[in-house]
Amino acid sequence: MLSKPRGLLFIISAASGTGKTTLAERLVQILSNLRMSRSYTSRAVRAGERAGVDYNFVSRDEFDAMVARGAFVEWADVFGNLYGTSRADTERLLESGQDVVLVIDVQGAQQVKASGIDHTAIFVLPPSFEILERRLRGRSADSEEAMQRRLAAARAEAGSYADYDYVVINDQLEPTVVRLQEIIAAERSRTHRMKKIAEDVIRTFRK
Ligand code: 5GP
Repeated sequence: MLSKPRGLLFIISAASGTGKTTLAERLVQILSNLRMSRSYTSRAVRAGERAGVDYNFVSRDEFDAMVARGAFVEWADVFGNLYGTSRADTERLLESGQDVVLVIDVQGAQQVKASGIDHTAIFVLPPSFEILERRLRGRSADSEEAMQRRLAAARAEAGSYADYDYVVINDQLEPTVVRLQEIIAAERSRTHRMKKIAEDVIRTFRK
């Protein structure tokens, strides 16, 4: 049997409250060949989270040791906690032909870009700042201080959309999921990625 072609790597970034995790989870449900990479984090487990499912939870020392041995494709300090994407886990998935989606912040996306790894980066914006704030306040048990920190980060990072390959406005969940599926399909159909399949077809044209 022919081995599957290498999978595609997608990045989704957005301010917290934009719905990026929900979007990625919906995509993974719908697209059988797409997996979400499980990040490592030094932050504490929140109520309702499961170790090894939501994140790989590690101590700060373990995280630092992973950084030192180059175990992360990217990592970042987000609101005082460390988060990173395992190079080995991501490579294993991509090599086995799985598409992978990383839900990571702007700093992490910049590192993936700088590393030269082939990827497609998508920035999700809320319809407006006001709607983002309303969504955040509606869902979160955060203190007012934490809320202000998230809103300040959203303000500071929104302009980063310009560095991404695609921008999607998350107005309503399902239409946004469809839009993301269209992006994934378009990326699959890019000429350089279709070369092998196209050449097989072209061969049938020859006498
Ligand atoms: P939370 O603590 O609410 O689960 O996540 C906080 C932020 O960390 C989110 O904005 C999320 O995008 C970011 N994040 C989660 N995993 C990673 C990762 O592996 N790398 C980077 N750079 N950011 C991450």
